[in-house]
Amino acid sequence: GEVIELHALTKRYGPTTAVDDLTLTVRPGHVTGFLGPNGAGKSTTLRMILGLTRPTGGTVTVAGVRFVDRPRGLRHAGALLDAGDVHGGRSAAAHLTALARGNGIGRARVDEVLREVGLAGVARRRIGGFSLGMRQRLGIAAALLGDPPVLLFDEPFNGLDPEGVRWVRDLFRRLAGEGRTVFVSSHLMSEMENCADRLVVIGRGRLIAEQSLAEFAGTR
Ligand code: ADP
Ligand code: ADP
Repeated sequence: GEVIELHALTKRYGPTTAVDDLTLTVRPGHVTGFLGPNGAGKSTTLRMILGLTRPTGGTVTVAGVRFVDRPRGLRHAGALLDAGDVHGGRSAAAHLTALARGNGIGRARVDEVLREVGLAGVARRRIGGFSLGMRQRLGIAAALLGDPPVLLFDEPFNGLDPEGVRWVRDLFRRLAGEGRTVFVSSHLMSEMENCADRLVVIGRGRLIAEQSLAEFAGTR
């Protein structure tokens, strides 16, 4: 894994301050939950970490390197941003194969990640017919494709049934256990139970708290 460091990170959209002077460290080998209500600035922060949105101020570094300055791609960081945002006419396998090709990743890895997320049986079906839960699994497969040290997931539990939620939690625990940096946004504290070791809470773009889950629960 690689450490993610945000320093005084700020993003303004006209009069709206989406992310406001955010300083925090996300460590490898942990699942870090990124908790806050809708509109708190979680997606904007994740997009800035990925270099998809340019900060108004402050810096993002990953493993000490300014992330926007390095070659981007799925080998460096995998992300689930918006599970609904895929071309529905394609099959799951075709979607992942195109992504793999664009990132210099071999075809064999596509079958591997499809198995890993439990979509091997529907690999040839059109994404247009997928439930939101299946789309979430597909988005997670795309994030895993490049076997990256850093993984970002924006609201990965949306649309999952209880079995799906358990599966995603176990997957995140396993990825962190492998030493990866796993940063997961959610607007629901309950989703982070049995999943995150640490919680970062934001509201109106500002850091509210950064603690272990045990500290939050008052059991430590
Ligand atoms: P969250 O992911 O926590 O729901 P967002 O990062 O999506 O929060 O949004 C934070 C704030 O910034 C909201 O007020 C949202 O409306 C605003 N915002 C986000 N993206 C844009 C954008 N591209 N243009 C204008 N305002 C935006
Ligand atoms: P940038 O960082 O270059 O502003 P973004 O990727 O954050 O780009 O946003 C791209 C576009 O999406 C914005 O220009 C905006 O028009 C639109 N957008 C996304 N989310 C919102 C939002 N919550 N409110 C208003 N516009 C939004």
